[in-house]
Amino acid sequence: MIHFVGAGPGAVDLITVRGQRLIRESDVIIYAGSLVNPDLLLEAKPTCSIYNSASMTLEEVIAVMVQAEQENKQTVRLHTGDPSLYGAIREQMDCLNQRHIAYEVVPGVSSFCGAAAALQAEYTLPDVSQTVIITRMAGRTPVPQREEISLLAQHQSTMVIFLSAGMLPQLTERLLAGGYLPDTPAAIVYKATWEDEKILRCTVQNLAQTAKQHHITKTALILVGRFLDGDYSRSLLYHPTFTHEFREGKALPQ
Ligand code: SAH
Repeated sequence: MIHFVGAGPGAVDLITVRGQRLIRESDVIIYAGSLVNPDLLLEAKPTCSIYNSASMTLEEVIAVMVQAEQENKQTVRLHTGDPSLYGAIREQMDCLNQRHIAYEVVPGVSSFCGAAAALQAEYTLPDVSQTVIITRMAGRTPVPQREEISLLAQHQSTMVIFLSAGMLPQLTERLLAGGYLPDTPAAIVYKATWEDEKILRCTVQNLAQTAKQHHITKTALILVGRFLDGDYSRSLLYHPTFTHEFREGKALPQ
């Protein structure tokens, strides 16, 4: 059995209980070395074979999994954050389907959740935005034209931009083209939940300058939107006058 496990955003105690148990039990671990905290591997059995997928191809990863299956071993494929976001797990699962090898997916805390926690922010504020757009700039991996940043920016929703810290002048240009004002609040969160985490608040206009000042070129998320700063409405759910399934609303005293 292969277990695709979300390692969480960085801090070793932000993996799920299930993920940690699987690391402790597994015979083979293939981890995404560029972003998974290696301290998570300290929990592995001394006999566990550990592979860093940073230098491996898909074919090599699958070959390790196939070999482990033939030897009746348990394998953990450890992905950073949650495996469903930019994790390239679908292609691995399809290869396993072809070979009739069983697998499961164990979710993880994505870095975009780690970044919100670091910022002490709420992405979905009433009257500000009720939508989170998770996207990236096109780099060597293309992005469909219909998802170009300026098109998404037109929604003025909360935006979480992965994999783009090295393209900030272009990102700002695309955000402005999509209608964001230059002084729209933005933030760069570098290595959210790691010990060397950095939280930089800035604006759409000075994203590149802010990153440059702090020597940030990768392992960062870019957050954009008025959720970072400014007014909002309080939630109806917890408002004294609001009635719902579990609570009867009351008129406020005059
Ligand atoms: N599956 C992962 C994302 C992998 S793509 C997740 O759910 O978080 C890799 C990109 O994720 C990085 O380029 C960076 O933009 C972002 N990232 C991953 N870990 C991060 C962290 N701890 N802090 C900030 N950004 C992070």
